[in-house]
This record gives sequence, C-alpha cells and structure tokens, in this order.
Amino acid sequence: MPLGPRSRRWLRATEAWLRADYPVKFPVSVRLAPKVAADPNDTPAARRHGYFGDSYANGRGMIVRISTRKNRTTHQAVETLMHEWAHLRSRRERLKRPHGPLWWRESGRIYEHYMDRGGWERVCRYYKELA
Ligand SMILES: [Zn+2]
Repeated sequence: MPLGPRSRRWLRATEAWLRADYPVKFPVSVRLAPKVAADPNDTPAARRHGYFGDSYANGRGMIVRISTRKNRTTHQAVETLMHEWAHLRSRRERLKRPHGPLWWRESGRIYEHYMDRGGWERVCRYYKELA
C-alpha cells in the first residue's frame, strides 16, 4: 500500500522541521513520487524496484524524491527523507564519498535530534500546523 495522507503530512512536517533546523544555502524541492527510478547504469534489481529516495542537482539547487510506494511506513519515509537531507548538508563531498564522514556527521546530528533531543516533538508541532 502506498503512503497514506497522514504519512504524507508527517513527511511534510519533517521537511518543515529540517528546513528550519538544518537549513541549506540553495533551493531544495522535495517531491513525492510513487516510484523513484534507478539510473540506467544501476543493477537490474535496482532498476526494477527503484529507490526509497534520491537527491540530485538541479541548476544551483537540489531535488529530493521520496518514493510513496517503496517506503511503506511513515517511519521508513521519514528515515529516507533524513538520509537525503544529510546528503544536502554534505553536498561538497557527495560525488567522491556520498556516505563519507560528512554525511555521517549530518545524518547522526539529524537522527539524534529527531529521536532524543526534541526533534520528534518539533515535527509534531509542524504536523498540527499543516492541518
Ligand atoms: Zn545516500
């Protein structure tokens, strides 16, 4: 089952929190799509199933795509968004080491904040505002 309206709203609330607390200096568009297709150079399995999400440069900005079909739960979709957001925040090393030290630092900060330092509660507030 694809992500329902409440999951999508939670995802938008998480996006609002990330934009507020983990800003980036370039325009970012977060798009929800049933399938986030793999690159033609990827493995046949990846091409068949697509990705949970991805991010890529678009002019001077970046586009993040989150699959509404492959992410089956709210939490999965949120983790995918946080994963991609860490890519935005570690953009300068993304081509050489997409999941290198800078990505891990950003990812860890975001994840810990969400889980243990009030990030989740912040998302709750955005969720209510989006009603
Ligand atoms: Zn990644």
